[in-house]
Amino acid sequence: KCLGLSTLTLLRLLRRALTALWSALASTWLWRAPSGAVAKESAATPPAVPLSVNYHFTRQCNYKCGFCFHTAKSSFVLPLEEAKRGLRLLQQAGMEKINFSGGEPFLQERGEFVGKLVQFCKQELKLPSVSIVSNGSMIKERWFKRYGQYLDILAVSCDSFCEEVNVLIGRGQGKKNHVENLQKLKKWCQVYGVAFKINSVINRFNMEEDMNEQIKALNPVRWKVFQCLLIEGENTGADALREAERFVISDEDFERFLHHHKDVSCLVPESNQKMRDSYLILDEYMRFLNCTGGRKEPSRSILDVGVEEAIKFSGFDEKMFFRRGGRYVWSKADMALEW
Ligand code: SF4
Repeated sequence: KCLGLSTLTLLRLLRRALTALWSALASTWLWRAPSGAVAKESAATPPAVPLSVNYHFTRQCNYKCGFCFHTAKSSFVLPLEEAKRGLRLLQQAGMEKINFSGGEPFLQERGEFVGKLVQFCKQELKLPSVSIVSNGSMIKERWFKRYGQYLDILAVSCDSFCEEVNVLIGRGQGKKNHVENLQKLKKWCQVYGVAFKINSVINRFNMEEDMNEQIKALNPVRWKVFQCLLIEGENTGADALREAERFVISDEDFERFLHHHKDVSCLVPESNQKMRDSYLILDEYMRFLNCTGGRKEPSRSILDVGVEEAIKFSGFDEKMFFRRGGRYVWSKADMALEW
């Protein structure tokens, strides 16, 4: 058993070293390449490793954000044991970070489903990083008590600190106060040892907002700022559940928002160009979603054909993943958190 464990540890260390080396080489090649040379290099590119995976296990959500780009087109959720089998396949293929997303992850079994997956990934698969993206409206303290120890990062979506703007976006909290809710979640993260992150989508209705003070006061480990993105079949086009055109902003508007918040040190910007193909996205059937054509085309499920076969159809831009800083300090064990 001891020998098995040390071999596993050695393999993990070797994989990390190779990944770091590949990361350095990939970014060097990319920056040095004259325009048009990238395609030639792809011949020498090794097969993508699913280092960091976003598993959107549900499409159901209690909100109706007008720009949502992963909409409730189905109510399917895999049985827990099948989801675990898929996660094990991903870990065997090199996954180090899993992010659970939706839809709203805390909707399924009032957070028990995602809690069990989080626990499985940390305890059984021993993944260095386990995170969740949530709109934050359904998380209870008892969830942190039971599962907080297994979670590295909780990212909460917050597009505005103004209730009227949240209503316009589709994230109105009714009688609840969004800022108070964020503060409560931040506090629970501190108490239960989870890194707290904020995600914001910049769109027509919040692009002029000054969020400097509120973000600094909440002091997240990362503030991910996305430019509102159109995806055919999700938030634009005849078969879509949303019409997000009225939310879209120009690159210049996005740059202006970033400039106004340049003093927020934890800000991580993500333009449309950086965002589109640099995420490995798994849908509720554990199919990789390929966004290169401007819509989400599914591969076959990793549960049917395995990770290596399915990932070929993911459209994943591994170089852009490293270039946008997709590999960062993502394990809470390596973070200097103040709790
Ligand atoms: S909270 Fe997220 S998943 Fe839910 S509707 Fe809004 S953008 Fe979509």
